[in-house]
Amino acid sequence: MENTAPQKIAFIGLGSMGLPMARRLLDAGHPLTVWNRTPAKADPLVADGAVLATSPAEAVRDADVVVTMLADPAAALAVADLLIPALRPGTHWIDTSTVGPDTVTALAARLPDGVTLIDAPVMGSVDRAATGELLILAGGDTAPVAAVLDRLGATTPCGGPGTGAALKLVLINAAIGGVALVAEALTLAGALGLPRDLALRTLGAGPLAGAVGRATATGSYFPVALAAKDVALATALAKLPLLEAVHSALTEDPALLAEDLAAIAG
Ligand code: NAP
Repeated sequence: MENTAPQKIAFIGLGSMGLPMARRLLDAGHPLTVWNRTPAKADPLVADGAVLATSPAEAVRDADVVVTMLADPAAALAVADLLIPALRPGTHWIDTSTVGPDTVTALAARLPDGVTLIDAPVMGSVDRAATGELLILAGGDTAPVAAVLDRLGATTPCGGPGTGAALKLVLINAAIGGVALVAEALTLAGALGLPRDLALRTLGAGPLAGAVGRATATGSYFPVALAAKDVALATALAKLPLLEAVHSALTEDPALLAEDLAAIAG
């Protein structure tokens, strides 16, 4: 008979995105073990039945599915050092961090036999993480983890390993570039003495409508520092002079780095 029991999940990385994603998996009835570098962030999940592991290895040891949601390639590689030795054959590891395809390749090369890695970075911010409405860009075979992904959002299969990570860089850099362009258009409108509301309303009726929506969003929290990280991942892979200028614009004011991306549009 088919085993329909909810998969045991280890969730690693309980930051702004990881915490609401882990919450959705716990609320769906998955046995959940969590680890975070700063353990106190797990408190609300532990209060509702999640188990707090003292190390990534302890978290993944009995897991059917491991989900990681970490800041950047350095974090993903550091945590991988700690968890990979404890992965048992048959485990499926979903990395939802935005790290780019090179890091996915580096992680995949280190997997023990019988462990699969699915790169599944997401579009959508904390609001959509909480409601399970993320757009998940998946590289690799998602069938064994479909129930887990379905709880987090809608999955777009991209192809083989690394393709989800690759498409994520394309989509997020286009989005960041769009917000940066809206920010400059608003600066120009201000220099010309035009009301901001008028400029936003008319920009929003044109081809930059989506970027205007993101530049004025209130439920998102995607810090400028993480956006700059994503632009740097892209400019390391191709000649992208516009995005190099966007990177300079994102990083020139240290006071903005912890603010949501919308802050660059004032
Ligand atoms: P975040 O709030 O900064 O959380 C980052 C997580 O990584 C935290 O759990 C943090 O642990 C952990 N971490 C960082 N460095 C580490 C290290 N060296 N060792 C172990 N753990 C480490 O970031 P986030 O907003 O959740 O974003 C997570 C990922 O999703 C990023 O790749 C981001 O680009 C991507 N993303 C973000 C959004 C968004 O709107 N925020 C949307 C889509 C995708 P501590 O808690 O101890 O700091």
